[in-house]
Amino acid sequence: MTINHHPSDATLLRHAAGTLGAGPAVVIAAHLEGCESCRRRISEFESVGGAILEGMPLEPLKTDALARVLERLDLPPSSPRSGSLVTRHHRLVGLELPPSLHHCEIGPWRWLGPGFRWSKVSIPGSSDAKVMLLKGRAGLKLPAHGHGGTEFLQVLSGSLFDERGRYHPGDLDEADIDVDHQPVVGPDSECICLVALEGDTRLHSALGRLLWPFVGF
Ligand SMILES: [Zn+2]
Repeated sequence: MTINHHPSDATLLRHAAGTLGAGPAVVIAAHLEGCESCRRRISEFESVGGAILEGMPLEPLKTDALARVLERLDLPPSSPRSGSLVTRHHRLVGLELPPSLHHCEIGPWRWLGPGFRWSKVSIPGSSDAKVMLLKGRAGLKLPAHGHGGTEFLQVLSGSLFDERGRYHPGDLDEADIDVDHQPVVGPDSECICLVALEGDTRLHSALGRLLWPFVGF
């Protein structure tokens, strides 16, 4: 799998420092699972972070600060429920979801427009996270939209393209407030994406306005 689209360094740093919201964090974790080059980048940040920590007086720091940052990079611990949840997710979504989603609740597919469906992803303990799976049929044109905050989109199956490029499984698109686009699903098969929205999408983005009556985001 060749991955051509990656999170920005700023996002990887926020992920490494544990300051990314729970929603974007599961999308970035899903990307990291399949992207060796981003995992290497995170390791570089950790080395720099470690060097900074070493140069600082230990007193004001909690001794486990670095351990806690590193902990956030790990995958959620597997539990006895993991196996059955993975099977249930597979049945609901029709494909195996990234391990970063194994502890999440996945809702049923709901209608969003002709050939367009969404499913709510609930992260335990983070009820305000705006995360969903989107599924579009082959060739579907999504509504043109801008962004009130950053939209993190990881392609899980199929493909998607817009004015800026083509996105295949493993690619991550980070679209911020400067991006206006109209994504189109590739012609060969349906496309399933994992999406997290940051910021007040309800007020400012067309995608947010479209989703809000259905999703409550
Ligand atoms: Zn990457």
